[in-house]
Amino acid sequence: MLRKRKVNKDKRPRFHIKKNDLVEVNTGEEKGRRGRILEVIPEKQQAIVEGINLVKKHQRARSQTKPSGIVTVPAAIRIANLVLICSKCGKKTSVRKEKIEDRKVRICKKCGEIIE
Ligand SMILES: [Zn+2]
Repeated sequence: MLRKRKVNKDKRPRFHIKKNDLVEVNTGEEKGRRGRILEVIPEKQQAIVEGINLVKKHQRARSQTKPSGIVTVPAAIRIANLVLICSKCGKKTSVRKEKIEDRKVRICKKCGEIIE
């Protein structure tokens, strides 16, 4: 009997980037801008990047110290439009995945270092 391999492609997509990575926008009005990933939204294939794609939001007053008003917050951007910046060599790069001592790591294709 053949065992069916479960495909969770849509449920758990794998991305080349993750939270706290430094990325650069590759397209659109903010091309070339860099920021750190605050959140990855896998189901939408989007990510929220610090300082990128800022939108104004109206905020209700929550307390005396936080009055209502307009705040600027980063909105989600498509992960496909982001390029990873290597934390070791500082270059725009892509990664390959390797297993080292049972640990999956990402290796920078430019400098060959492990990106944590
Ligand atoms: Zn590198």
